[in-house]
Amino acid sequence: MNDPADPRNPIQSTETGASPRTVAPLADPPVGPPLWLLAELTYRCPLHCVFCSNPVDYASLGQELSTAQWLDVLRQARALGAAQLGLSGGEPLLRDDLEVLVEEARKLGFYTNLITSGIGLTDKRLGALKDAGLDHIQLSFQDSTQELNDFLSNTRTFELKKKVATSIKAHGFPMVLNCVLHRYNLPHVNRIIDMALEMGADYLELANTQYYGWAYLNRAELIPTRSQVEQAEAVVQRYRKRIGERCKILFVVPDYFEDRPKRCMNGWGNLFLGIAPDGLALPCHAARSLPGLVLPRVTERPLADIWYCSDTFRRYRGFGWMKEPCRSCDEKEHDLAGCRCQAYLLTGDAANADPVCEKSPLHGAVEQTVRFAAARPQAAPRRASVREQPIIFRTDANSRERS
Ligand code: SF4
Ligand code: SF4
Repeated sequence: MNDPADPRNPIQSTETGASPRTVAPLADPPVGPPLWLLAELTYRCPLHCVFCSNPVDYASLGQELSTAQWLDVLRQARALGAAQLGLSGGEPLLRDDLEVLVEEARKLGFYTNLITSGIGLTDKRLGALKDAGLDHIQLSFQDSTQELNDFLSNTRTFELKKKVATSIKAHGFPMVLNCVLHRYNLPHVNRIIDMALEMGADYLELANTQYYGWAYLNRAELIPTRSQVEQAEAVVQRYRKRIGERCKILFVVPDYFEDRPKRCMNGWGNLFLGIAPDGLALPCHAARSLPGLVLPRVTERPLADIWYCSDTFRRYRGFGWMKEPCRSCDEKEHDLAGCRCQAYLLTGDAANADPVCEKSPLHGAVEQTVRFAAARPQAAPRRASVREQPIIFRTDANSRERS
């Protein structure tokens, strides 16, 4: 963003809060608009998933944005160039204004995707969301069995979710089924795929747990063994050959078992713009856990200013911020040094190489976790066995304790 004449480069910033000031030419690399807006409408949720990626202190966070404030966010983001909109949470269906937001998003030209647990997705609401112009629904399951699905969410919701899946298809929505994988349900991958096929899912996202938020708290319980991951991946490959295009299966590999990190968010402040329920703008879902970042608030600064000029969104753009070994590494353009939040969680410094990388001098932190997982006895995916583990459910009380 060196050219002040570039229309993508606002020259006025309110970084200091009060009056706008002129920004000196920046040494940042050129950056385009955010293409993907994730609106986390609420952290409230009827489920209590042990791997939830919401902040562990969600119960103490500020008030949710109002309908008018969300509408303003949508308009500003679309004017910036965002095209894909994810409506997520928590459970976004807990917002009574969801249909209003979808309708406006559709009018603005967003492609809209509802990311939901399905709880509260009645036929009436499905009809209203269809009328409002919703394009797509992503429905989450915790497992293919009632026992484990209900245990991991600490609710009795499995049968209800199955009914919701049928209704989603009956209303003609394209549907992604999503299932977060870990040591307890990896052995069920074949049954999870069969379930998705029976439900007529267009896509199945098998997302191995990423260890942030509640999943990081429960990491010792959830982390699988390497052989579990390899076996599940082999099952996925067999199904892909067999079913072809009938249902596209995405298998998101757990990066703890890789020797190079993921290209996290396709680059910090590059494509993704998240807005938290309380109006904080996030370069990635877990960014509020990073110390020293003053996350800008959409109620205090224009979105364009936040995206192009805020210290938070500029902090890890490009390569200038990198330390060794990334700074001189010939792979840095490929992986952008991995995930800042993982680097912070596992090494204490968000500017370090993601320790998933075996070139990182701190790679031992990841290896130790993988060795720990391998040494643990294999847990049978039964309620009784799981219950013996000290799993921490996402509840308001547990969240308040960690605030
Ligand atoms: S992971 Fe579970 S608890 Fe967290 S928001 Fe999603 S459905 Fe709710
Ligand atoms: S040293 Fe850094 S840039 Fe190089 S491969 Fe590892 S994480 Fe990527």
